[in-house]
Amino acid sequence: MYDVIVVGARCAGSPVAMLLARRGYRVLVVDRAAFPSDTVSTHFIHQAGLARLNAWGLLERLRATGMPALRRMRFASGDLVVEGFADPIEGITEVCCPRRTVLDALLVDAAREAGAEVLERCGVVGLLFAADGRVTGVRASMADGGEREFHARFVVGADGVNSTVAARVGADVYRAVPATGFVYYSYFSGIDWSHQNLIRDERQFAACRTHDDLMMLVVMRKRDAYRTFRADPEAEFQAVFDHVAPEFGADLRANGRQEEPFRAIHYADNFYRRSHGPGWALVGDAGYHKDPLTGWGITDAFVYGELLAEQLHLGLSGDVPIDDAVAEYARRRDRDSAGVFGLTVAMSELTLSPFLASVLGAVSRSPSYQRKFFTMVGGGLSSDEFFAPDSLAALYDEVGTPPAERLLPADAGAH
Ligand SMILES: Cc1cc2nc3c(=O)[nH]c(=O)nc-3n(C[C@H](O)[C@H](O)[C@H](O)COP(=O)(O)OP(=O)(O)OC[C@H]3O[C@@H](n4cnc5c(N)ncnc54)[C@H](O)[C@@H]3O)c2cc1C
Repeated sequence: MYDVIVVGARCAGSPVAMLLARRGYRVLVVDRAAFPSDTVSTHFIHQAGLARLNAWGLLERLRATGMPALRRMRFASGDLVVEGFADPIEGITEVCCPRRTVLDALLVDAAREAGAEVLERCGVVGLLFAADGRVTGVRASMADGGEREFHARFVVGADGVNSTVAARVGADVYRAVPATGFVYYSYFSGIDWSHQNLIRDERQFAACRTHDDLMMLVVMRKRDAYRTFRADPEAEFQAVFDHVAPEFGADLRANGRQEEPFRAIHYADNFYRRSHGPGWALVGDAGYHKDPLTGWGITDAFVYGELLAEQLHLGLSGDVPIDDAVAEYARRRDRDSAGVFGLTVAMSELTLSPFLASVLGAVSRSPSYQRKFFTMVGGGLSSDEFFAPDSLAALYDEVGTPPAERLLPADAGAH
């Protein structure tokens, strides 16, 4: 009998398993993948995410893998450019983009080192329930083709957007917003653009330096462009760079060499799922998923994975009834993630709303607000604080925005 079984061993699952094992609980974490393992996801990590790795003693280990540190960011929409970097966030002065083969394996190793039992090539196919409906374990298909049952006081679904745990407990979705785009990405040598996130005419590209002296290049477009794009991905990929920022397009054409095949995905909708119930919880993408444009999935998996582990500890140690402790995790996650979720959904339109255009137009003319903007983006300031009417009024005053163009949150509804 385990204290906790965690289903899924990547950004959400392994940290939960590691943190509970470090507290002395008997933890099993299972994944149908075998690590190191890639996944279809780009892999930018914000300062708030690196701060969690640092707190867990894993950041130096990640740095030692040859992961480049980035200390300048550039966001542009049309001709509006916001450039710079955030204030230190919990002492973290960099962002980065580690390959998932490296990051996820490091997290799995850390869980194992902490004392969690890790079973790879082990896919959960069902849950075990007590007569009163409480989840009491999992049924899994094993690497040897057989099936096994594992019993636990609590089961955590960290098994991604198509979560088996969520399906088996019938967790409802709420705040769903349909996804707008699709992504193509790959890795290129011969160019070095540090960090870019540029949008023009509903076309976006992002660039981020990663391991092995490669640039990760990502293109995002709205779904109506998919059929055309898929017919000739190489030409369409290049065309986005040429259209959004011709100087980057020219550099890519002249000097860039694609080192790996494209990964392509019609990613899932934005949603929250009910993430707690008798004997179970959901964490990471299983419980809360949003468009990849703002690159917050990994950071959120770390932040709320840690929160879930803390709340589970309160429950397992008997301080608080465990289902209440986990309900509190879900309540706080929903409250604290609302700003990132709202901003991400707004940005995923690949065109700025009049409100965001007004604010970011002003930000682009203020070095201090550019810093503040990246501090919000990096997780050091909430979007409520950043977009607070007083703060925006001071910004508009500073850069001399004409009264008719001074849009406030009330003009936008959501961001
Ligand atoms: C195109 C794209 C780009 C992205 N770019 C970024 C980015 O730049 N930065 C960022 O922070 N986020 C990004 N994201 C989001 C990020 O990938 C996710 O938020 C993050 O991976 C969530 O981690 P997770 O551990 O919750 O789930 P996942 O990473 O999906 O891991 C779930 C794990 O569960 C396992 N699993 C599933 N079902 C079972 C089962 N039944 N039994 C056993 N194991 C199971 C899977 O094998 C998998 O290993 C991107 C996503 C996409 C699609």
